Amino acid sequence: MKNYSSLKKLNSECVECTSCNLSKTRKNVVVGKGNESAQVLIIGEGPGEQEDITGLPFVGRAGKMLDTALSSVDIDPLEDCYITNIVKCRPPNNRKPSAAESEACMPWLNEQVNLLKPKIIILAGSTAVQSFLGINEPISKIRGQWIEKDNIKYMPIFHPSYLLRNPSKNKGKPKWLTWQDLKKVKKELNSI
Ligand code: SF4
Repeated sequence: MKNYSSLKKLNSECVECTSCNLSKTRKNVVVGKGNESAQVLIIGEGPGEQEDITGLPFVGRAGKMLDTALSSVDIDPLEDCYITNIVKCRPPNNRKPSAAESEACMPWLNEQVNLLKPKIIILAGSTAVQSFLGINEPISKIRGQWIEKDNIKYMPIFHPSYLLRNPSKNKGKPKWLTWQDLKKVKKELNSI
């Protein structure tokens, strides 16, 4: 992977990528969206059906859930964040990306991190945590705890799809816990 001088250049080459089998079934490569000067990078697992159709990450029901969760702590999803995924092409039937697919796509993500230089990275779901940090703990165990590496603070949270399946807002439930996690992110963001 070469070093890119801008996200625009990276994006234009990433959309042509055929480095793994997901290129055979995708409609669009979903590179990322948001503010390229943002301090917060959000990394999910991979594009779903709506993302594959539109070429944009987190635009389906899970995306709306993420937007709502961020807005509830006064983080603007598009102004304060840049949003992407571990794999840029949709795994068929929304299955988890394989280790080989995640590995093949990682150079794109690493280069995005190099260019964006985020201070905070939110890792949404266990696939993002495992693939990016190599931590195999269940997300329920590590969510909400800052992990610091190479001058970047990482916050693991539940994937928004999981919140859709667990709609209760009661104290101690996944939605409430995510709200606590994002409040920590907002506090950190305010201190930058
Ligand atoms: S998932 Fe990543 S590595 Fe695989 S084809 Fe798409 S952009 Fe390339």
